[in-house]
Amino acid sequence: MEFGGWSAFFSGVAFTALLVVAGLGIGLFVGRRRGRMDVKEAVDLRGVAAVMDGLADWTTDIMEDVTHYNELVDRASRWLAEGKGQGDERLSQVIEVLTKIARTNEQLKQRLADAENRLHTQTAELQVFMSEARTDPLTGLSNRRGFNDELARRESEWLRHQIPYSVVMLDVDHFKQVNDRYGHATGDELLVAVGTQLKEILRLSDYVARIGGEEFAVLLAFAEIDTAIQTAERIRRSMTGVAIAAAGRTITVTLSAGVAQALPDEPAKQLLARADEALYAAKGAGRDCVWWHDGTRVHPAGDARLAPTGSSVRPESDDAFVSACKELRRQLLELAGTASGAAEDSSKTERRGGS
Ligand code: GH3
Ligand code: MG
Ligand code: MG
Repeated sequence: MEFGGWSAFFSGVAFTALLVVAGLGIGLFVGRRRGRMDVKEAVDLRGVAAVMDGLADWTTDIMEDVTHYNELVDRASRWLAEGKGQGDERLSQVIEVLTKIARTNEQLKQRLADAENRLHTQTAELQVFMSEARTDPLTGLSNRRGFNDELARRESEWLRHQIPYSVVMLDVDHFKQVNDRYGHATGDELLVAVGTQLKEILRLSDYVARIGGEEFAVLLAFAEIDTAIQTAERIRRSMTGVAIAAAGRTITVTLSAGVAQALPDEPAKQLLARADEALYAAKGAGRDCVWWHDGTRVHPAGDARLAPTGSSVRPESDDAFVSACKELRRQLLELAGTASGAAEDSSKTERRGGS
């Protein structure tokens, strides 16, 4: 190897060492930041978690590079030690430097391995932290923050891709009386029982959250108003199965519900306001019932057969789909007609040929 070749080799090693140090630096930076994080910051942390995952992969790559360099250094040292440059003062200096680099690389590799382990641990912690930030500790359901995130997703799917969705707002009836008569702990127990019941009877694709003290909400993707009203009714009726024991008595619970489906171009905020209006109407109508909002006014669930104004408007893509199906059917019938005509002709020909 020429001396010029060695200097290129050293530059390569030095560059790798630089990358390793940069990796360590970023690892430490992310580590320190994690320590200072508060709950508010957790909202946008999904991106950070992805970056950390990427960093962990990157450190693995660099570690592989370091191993590769060490092998090169070893090979070069052996080659020089074989006596190819015996007596040459410059070459023995080179061997000395190479050995130092190899040792430093080993140390860097160890520190990098530590940094990578830390990154993995921090990523896992961050994921738990993010999920906790969206979970209601009492019921284990999503909390308001989780609900808002999911609502934003549903809103975007509706506005951009016309995927319909509905919301059901639920509020425990006369819950304050439970607290007043049996104490806050019993009230909590009842909320847990309601949460468990909601988890049990809803589908996995339905998003249920506890959005306030004794208020729950369900987001139903792909659901139009009729389905949403039926779901709300199913929830309401299922509450007859919820009961807890306190002070030698059995405490039961009822819910009122307000339902609405997103209207064309409707912002999620307005949808929630309409569902709330329906819930308010359900309370006014005596509680333990479901009301829904059609875009203009509210109705009791029994009126679900009334055509909702605007809310059941089919997205354009559905119309396009229906006409495409019709067209396909027409073409198939046409083809079937041609085929059966041809079959008839050929059997006639055969018969004629046979007679
Ligand atoms: P309505 O039928 O009109 O909804 O009456 P309500 O009594 O259910 O409603 P109100 O808003 O008057 O009272 C709600 C009560 O819920 C008041 C509050 O102390 C209680 N609460 C809120 N959060 C919690 C909680 O986490 N645990 C318990 N045990 N009670 C709570
Ligand atoms: Mg309430
Ligand atoms: Mg209430």
